[in-house]
Amino acid sequence: MCGIVGYIGNQNAQDIVVNGLEKLEYRGYDSSGIATISNGKLELSKFKGRLSVLKEHLKKQPHTGFIGIGHTRWATHGEPSDVNSHPHINESESVAVIHNGIIENYRSLKAELIKEGYKFKSQTDTEVIVHLIDHYLKDSKDIMKAVNLTVKRLRGAYALGIIYKNEPDKIIAVRNESPLVVGIGKGENFFCI
Ligand code: GLU
Repeated sequence: MCGIVGYIGNQNAQDIVVNGLEKLEYRGYDSSGIATISNGKLELSKFKGRLSVLKEHLKKQPHTGFIGIGHTRWATHGEPSDVNSHPHINESESVAVIHNGIIENYRSLKAELIKEGYKFKSQTDTEVIVHLIDHYLKDSKDIMKAVNLTVKRLRGAYALGIIYKNEPDKIIAVRNESPLVVGIGKGENFFCI
């Protein structure tokens, strides 16, 4: 089981997310990563290794922005590597997804998406989620609708954190037969598992 942290509010998202991941590091430690949205751009950093590897990188190249998701991975599908680390993003770099758990039907979804022209970078089960969201966004342009349609296709126990560059006022958390804690604050919200 991995560690997941999400934050939206008026504080620096990187600090809150990395702090949260530190507390959850015992949950997943083969790689870690963070995605934030700043100035209309999705920023992504992810690395194989302990959280300290990510922290060292962020010292040199910090993320700005008030919305972010972070992940410490415990690999189930695909070896620990930079590319298999979470968050996973779509080709146009607008959607980022973190995931705890296993997508049991990922093989059939992957085959369907490859037929449609999607290119996979990682060996994870998680990557199907971000491409499915991208697929449904083409029709609706609405992240909530696209996520709802996506999760209807997924089988397995999972928790997800999702951000979308074009709707930076929204952070999405999803769970199915997996724990997920949501913290509702004044002008800021959090989630973690
Ligand atoms: N199944 C996903 C992976 O292998 C998530 C693993 C986790 O929960 O950390 O990347």
